[in-house]
Amino acid sequence: MKIRNSQQRNLIAGLMKDNYDHPTADEIYELAREKEPTISRGTVYRNLNRLTEMGTISKLTMPVGPDHFDCRDQDHYHFLCRKCHKVFDTPLEYDGSLNAVPKSMEGFRIECHRLLLVGLCPQCAGKENNN
Ligand SMILES: [Zn+2]
Ligand SMILES: [Zn+2]
Repeated sequence: MKIRNSQQRNLIAGLMKDNYDHPTADEIYELAREKEPTISRGTVYRNLNRLTEMGTISKLTMPVGPDHFDCRDQDHYHFLCRKCHKVFDTPLEYDGSLNAVPKSMEGFRIECHRLLLVGLCPQCAGKENNN
C-alpha cells in the first residue's frame, strides 16, 4: 500500500527532528525504509529538498562527499572529517560581524557566511596514527 505525500513528508521530517548527526540523504533513506519499506530513494530526496526549501532543515554542501542535512536552526560552524566525511558541530562562537558589508564592497548584500573546519575526527586520527 502506498502512503500519501503528506505522510511521506511527515515521516522524513520526523526522522530529521532532533537528529544532530548531520545525516546524508542516503542515511535518511535507510532510516525511512525501516519505518516504511516501500518508500523510494527519490521520494526521500524530494522531501529532504522540500523541507530545506521550507526552512525546516538546512542542507550542507561539502567540498568533498555528499550533502548533509541539519536540523539545528541557529547559525553555527561545522567540522568536516576529510576521511570518513562525517560532519560535526563546533562550539566556535558565530561571528555575526562577518555579515556586515565592508566599505570596499559597496553594492553587495551579504546574507550569510560559512566557516568549515576540515581535518580528521578523533576516530580517523587514531587510525592514522596506528598505520
Ligand atoms: Zn573521520
Ligand atoms: Zn550542524
